[in-house]
Amino acid sequence: MSTLPIRIYGDAILRKKAKPVKHIDGQLQRLIVQMTETMLAAEAPPAVGLAAPQVGRLMRVIIAREDVTDDTPVHCVINPRLVEYEEEQTDSEGCLSFPTLRGMVRRPLRVLVAGIGPDEEELSLEAAGLLARVLVHEIDHLNGVVFIDKADPDSLRWMIPDKNEEDGYRLKPTGLAKIQEVFDRLRQKQ
Ligand code: ZN
Repeated sequence: MSTLPIRIYGDAILRKKAKPVKHIDGQLQRLIVQMTETMLAAEAPPAVGLAAPQVGRLMRVIIAREDVTDDTPVHCVINPRLVEYEEEQTDSEGCLSFPTLRGMVRRPLRVLVAGIGPDEEELSLEAAGLLARVLVHEIDHLNGVVFIDKADPDSLRWMIPDKNEEDGYRLKPTGLAKIQEVFDRLRQKQ
């Protein structure tokens, strides 16, 4: 496994607009493999998506999966475009660039995303539910938008490990100023 370091909130790259990919070459295919391994290596909690700026590459490349089981396929979309979206869903969301933070975010329930696959094929991906949520979250990253921009500010919570809870953690309310402070400290330690 070769994983890449994940950029934490406050890193300027997370606010930049990623550039379209012009050529799919071996280097890009290696990046996609590394992004996939980096996503799959995340455990607490497991991850369902990753965008290239989160590993320090300002390229329009995302990966996403609709479940965390080992046999769930990982979709990769290069130069993804949100072509259609309909209805809404509101649910809890997290992000590898915001370790242990959760927040409620309204997203489309169903989407059609077009782009290019890793083998240069034209791709059109219809998705609903969690996969639709992940695809929109990752496309946002390519435009410098992160999930706390869209989350209900009153819903932001830290996941605090707690053996007494059924899920293994409890949720502690937080706010944007505190979030900034915690991740500034975390980045300085990296
Ligand atoms: Zn994210």
